Amino acid sequence: MRVMLDERSFENFVKTRLKGRRVLVQLPEGLKPKIDRIAKILEQSGYEVVISMEPCYGACDIRDEEAKRLGCDLVLHLGHKELVGKREVPMLVVYYPISIDVEIDVKKVAERIREEKIGLVTTVQHEHLLAVWAKQIEEVGKKAIICGPILGCDQRNALVHEKEVDCFLFVGSGRFHALGIRTKKPIYLYDVEKNELTNLDEDRRRWELIDFARKEAFRDAKRIGFLVSWKRWQVPAMEELFALKKETERRGKEVLILAFDEIKNEKLLGMKLDLLVNFACPRIKEDKFDVPIINKGDLEAILVKEG
Ligand code: SF4
Repeated sequence: MRVMLDERSFENFVKTRLKGRRVLVQLPEGLKPKIDRIAKILEQSGYEVVISMEPCYGACDIRDEEAKRLGCDLVLHLGHKELVGKREVPMLVVYYPISIDVEIDVKKVAERIREEKIGLVTTVQHEHLLAVWAKQIEEVGKKAIICGPILGCDQRNALVHEKEVDCFLFVGSGRFHALGIRTKKPIYLYDVEKNELTNLDEDRRRWELIDFARKEAFRDAKRIGFLVSWKRWQVPAMEELFALKKETERRGKEVLILAFDEIKNEKLLGMKLDLLVNFACPRIKEDKFDVPIINKGDLEAILVKEG
C-alpha cells in the first residue's frame, strides 16, 4: 500500500482553503510517515504547526477544544472526509482526505464471486480506485455498481444500491466496515492487507449468535454501564440517553452513565458491572470486554420487545 500525497495539490489546498496562524494537525497512524512533508508545506505557507499524537480513528474525532487550549485557531484533519449533516464547531476545521493506493487485480477477485451484479464498496482512502476496479469486474463479464465509500457508522452509500445488486464486495482492510452493511445479500470482503477474499456469511452468523447471547444477558443484569464518548461527533443525544436510562431502571436495573475519551476495558476494572451499553462508535462492540457489551440500538430493540 502506498500513501499518496500530491504535494502540489496539498500546497494549493493550504493556500486556498486554510486560514489562520497556528494549526493543530490530526492524522491517523497510517499517515504518520508523511508528517514531515505536511508540516514543512504548512510552515512554508506561514503556519505554526502542532501535531496531535493522540490516536485519530475517524472523522468523528475532532480536537477543536484541545486546539484552542494550545492557542491554535485551526484544526487540519487529515485522512478522513467531513461527516455529512454535522453541526458547525466553534473553530475552523478543515478535512483533507489522503488516498492510499493498493495494487490488486479485482478481475481475479470477481472471477471467484458467483453473483453477477456486484456492488463495490470501500473506504474513503481507496475511493479513487473504484472506477478502476469496476472496469476490471466488467472485463470478466459481470456488472459492477459503484456504491462508494462507507464508514463503520454510516453505510448509506451501500444500502441505497441494495435492490440493484446481487452481492456487495468491500475492498479494504478489516471486517468492521463490511460487517456493518445491514443487508440479507451476500457480502464479500477483499482484504487488501492480507490479499484474501472472504465470504462474510459465516462471520455474520457468528455475530448474530454473539449478539443474541449478549442481549440475553440484559435479563439477568442488575448493574449496567452506559458507555459514552465525548469525542466531538460521538457524543450521543443526552436527553435520549437519560430517557433510556429511566426506561431501563423501570425494569429494576441500576444504570451508571460512564464517560470516556477512549472506551477501554481496563478503565472499567473494579466497576462490578453486569452489562455494557455502547453509545459511541459501533466498532467498540468488537473489542474485548470482561462483561457482555451491546450497542444502543440493541438496547432499544430489547426495550421495545419487552414493552
Ligand atoms: S464513529 Fe466510528 S465508524 Fe464512525 S467515523 Fe467515528 S470512528 Fe469511524
